[in-house]
Amino acid sequence: MTRCLNCGADRSGDVCKACGLSSVGAELFLRKRLLNRTAVFVLGALAFVAASVQYPPVEVDRVLIFIGTLFFPTLALAIWVERRALRHAEVEALKRIYYGLVPIPWLLGALLIVNGVLDRDAPRIAHERVVGKFAMAGALPIRRLVVTSWREDHRFEHILIDRRDFDFFHPGDPVDVKVQDGLIGIPWIGGVSRP
Ligand SMILES: [Zn+2]
Repeated sequence: MTRCLNCGADRSGDVCKACGLSSVGAELFLRKRLLNRTAVFVLGALAFVAASVQYPPVEVDRVLIFIGTLFFPTLALAIWVERRALRHAEVEALKRIYYGLVPIPWLLGALLIVNGVLDRDAPRIAHERVVGKFAMAGALPIRRLVVTSWREDHRFEHILIDRRDFDFFHPGDPVDVKVQDGLIGIPWIGGVSRP
């Protein structure tokens, strides 16, 4: 007894009694759906990175590392499900795990946006100094400013900034950093300016 690749129902013959698809048809349907969900997942990861540029958490590196460690194993899982489907092996459980992971980047992105957009508290201004800056090209270019830290247990902070600020600031410049507490307790950077 195998399960239908399309609907997951137990299937005794070549044609699934629940959805009416043959094993070849069910495989095609599954692969199409995998592809669609993978597109949704990749877009979600990009949206998440865009949200973390717009409302950058103070711990932006940890956040980006987290999304990276989610991204690649999830894609690997999608590939694994497809390989197994090609061999007509059991995919139901793996498929469900994969479908469960797909919305996570969207949810985390929404969390960062809610944390920033609805944060109405006045920012704390930290008077710091620029010690370096660097840019990383990519689908979403990431530009960072390295500044002295306002936190006792940290020496430096890495701040995501836009192109205008990136061109404007140079190592040695004084900089005012707007630190926001965040609606749901994720501290984020509201912006940088010259004192
Ligand atoms: Zn079926």
